[in-house]
Amino acid sequence: MSAQGRSTTDASAFVLDGAAIAEGVLAKVAEETRALAAHGVTPGLAVVLVGDNPASQTYIAGKGRAAKACGFHSIQHTLPAETSEAELLALVEALNADPAVHGLLVQLPLPEHIDSSRVLEAIAPAKDVDGFHPINVGLLSIGNTSRALIPCTPAGAMILIDRACERLGWTLPGMEAVIIGRSNIVGKPMAQLLLARHCTVTVAHSRTLDLPSVARRADILVAAVGQPEMVRGDWVKPGAIVIDVGINRVPAHGRDASAKPKTRLVGDVAYAEAAAVAGAITPVPGGVGRMTIAMLMANTALAAKRAVGV
Ligand code: NAD
Repeated sequence: MSAQGRSTTDASAFVLDGAAIAEGVLAKVAEETRALAAHGVTPGLAVVLVGDNPASQTYIAGKGRAAKACGFHSIQHTLPAETSEAELLALVEALNADPAVHGLLVQLPLPEHIDSSRVLEAIAPAKDVDGFHPINVGLLSIGNTSRALIPCTPAGAMILIDRACERLGWTLPGMEAVIIGRSNIVGKPMAQLLLARHCTVTVAHSRTLDLPSVARRADILVAAVGQPEMVRGDWVKPGAIVIDVGINRVPAHGRDASAKPKTRLVGDVAYAEAAAVAGAITPVPGGVGRMTIAMLMANTALAAKRAVGV
């Protein structure tokens, strides 16, 4: 027996359906939005894009669609790549002051001539629905999760972990959690969230020695690295919960109709190998990725509720 009593002879892992769970989050946000209408408030989400990075354009289009589907007031500002830092800061200030905007995010990466930290720090913490402002980072790190706005990807991953625990009959306090990756966007806030839930947390990274052994300690293993299928089946403790944050585009066999080489998305975890050992696992695509936008909408509704004291 292992990870809180799952037999190592049990069949394959419970697959966490991020798409379905994200739909549930979005349905709740839409309901909260209808309730806010009774107070004369429509949550407003403003998204600022500088330049024409195609991946960023796809992301913000998805955010805009989700915001409209939730019944939000959705605002998008697309600025040319040569926009100066001062011009961007002036727009952020204007959106900070706009009472119709409850959530505000500036899509990263920004062009090199703009200091991203300065821009992120200019966003009003109460509107910082990405959760990247140092005030929100600080609130999370002191365990004040009820006042913070929490970064969307780890917040979504946490919901998936809770769902896996429900399914496996686990409780989090005292569990060993290993997070591979220490970025400000995913790894570090994920560690803070699991600490706040009383897990024993290890954050591994590119300088960690003997990573497979460290990973094998984990009841909850979160991979947020950006290395296709790096986590192999024999890195996974039998019965563990495996959360794959990675989104990596790799070549696939053959060509598509336009004769371009085909590509496919894979995570940081070798899925088939890990699923044969894990107790629960997220697929890529269809796992954590689907939760991120849903949590952005949840943060916007939360910011709107806080703004009007509901
Ligand atoms: P990042 O590049 O900022 O950080 C990667 C981390 O992995 C670093 O801390 C680094 O130390 C660690 N790392 C790199 N190589 C390593 C190795 N060989 N062994 C151990 N650790 C190693 O990346 P990020 O922004 O945290 O994103 C990580 C992955 O998650 C990427 O694939 C990204 O596309 C994906 N991502 C997905 C979502 C989502 O919505 N699902 C959101 C954000 C990021």
